[in-house]
Amino acid sequence: MELDSLYQDIILDHYKHPQNKKLATSYDAQVHHINPSCGDEITLNLTLKDGLVDCITWDGVGCSISQASVSILSDLLKGKTISQAQIIQDEFLHLMQSKGSKDGSAELLEDAVALAGVSKYPARIKCALLGWMAYKDAVVQAQSK
Ligand code: ZN
Repeated sequence: MELDSLYQDIILDHYKHPQNKKLATSYDAQVHHINPSCGDEITLNLTLKDGLVDCITWDGVGCSISQASVSILSDLLKGKTISQAQIIQDEFLHLMQSKGSKDGSAELLEDAVALAGVSKYPARIKCALLGWMAYKDAVVQAQSK
């Protein structure tokens, strides 16, 4: 898989120095998602407060794409309103479905645009989306409490 080298550096940096990779002991929802085709696993704890994403912490194992993606997400969505987070999530999903035809909005996605090249590799899209699907599930659970 060949990705733009700047983008590769961002991904590797998040993989080697993951953000928020320490499960918070209190949370509104905890989810565990796996990607059997690659062997990626993510546990994600989410806390919402006053309509904001207050805290996303996680733990996981797997490939650099899956682990970097959830690290980026945990940083990016923290402090956003739930509806802003939804807009970012939708933009990322569109990017992953673009088969390499889109760059993604850097304004919305920040470091997550580094994953744009992954959309050309169908087998790896699930790796990139694993953390985002976990977050989506956690929001639904946290809101239904
Ligand atoms: Zn993977």
